[in-house]
Amino acid sequence: MEKVKTDKREFIKYSTLGVLGLVLGGGMIFSPYVLKAENRLRPPGAVDEKKFLALCIKCGQCLQVCPYHSIKLTDMAHGHGIGTPYIDADERACYACNAVPCVLACPSGALDHHCEKPEDIRMGIAVLEFPDTCLAISKTPIPKGFNDKMHKYTNSVVNIHELEEKLLEKFDQFEGKACTLCADMCPIPNPLSAIEMVADSGGGQRPEIYSGCIGCGACQDVCPTTIASIVVKPRMTYDEYYSNKK
Ligand code: SF4
Ligand code: SF4
Ligand code: SF4
Repeated sequence: MEKVKTDKREFIKYSTLGVLGLVLGGGMIFSPYVLKAENRLRPPGAVDEKKFLALCIKCGQCLQVCPYHSIKLTDMAHGHGIGTPYIDADERACYACNAVPCVLACPSGALDHHCEKPEDIRMGIAVLEFPDTCLAISKTPIPKGFNDKMHKYTNSVVNIHELEEKLLEKFDQFEGKACTLCADMCPIPNPLSAIEMVADSGGGQRPEIYSGCIGCGACQDVCPTTIASIVVKPRMTYDEYYSNKK
């Protein structure tokens, strides 16, 4: 009889825990935070987000071949696509490699193999989000230490690739000059199709974005202001963002 009571107590205890677990688990699964649409830069060639999440097998092949160490895998703090690759342009953008090796390495179709060259990439669109802080508009020279973030990131990786070193060499030469970094560091073969410094009404200059922008985020990465003045809107096209603004 005592055994039956004990079993009953155990049953009630574990049932309660089970229900609690379901409620908490359900809360996790259905919480607006976890369900919110991913809005991040995906690697070149990424198919639409829903399809991407279904196809990506989280193998990490794309990040292993990236010479700039641009691709990371999401963790719990980054939403429901845990383990999927993304790019944080504030840390290290995509630098649009010639043969787009990340796409070639993808075995699942999550990165579409039709994306064969830099011009085929369409990750988003650059936007001068904070013109008030742009050094070109305020005619402020690029300050000393502007390159600390980029060097720190490069020094944190295990195998620094020669392309990263070349990128830093080019970048370091801008100290003290008028800021044209976003335009001059744009990595695509024809950067003028994407971005150009134009005269600003205040006597300085400002970056103008064109439809050739591939949304690689390099301009955001190299922008020396504390919070990048120019940012990439993930997955947005030039027409979607600019058609009503110009
Ligand atoms: S194109 Fe090059 S830099 Fe950009 S994510 Fe792919 S491998 Fe990295
Ligand atoms: S303008 Fe910026 S986001 Fe667009 S292609 Fe050039 S560097 Fe990349
Ligand atoms: S990188 Fe471009 S957006 Fe950033 S401060 Fe320089 S000119 Fe302005």
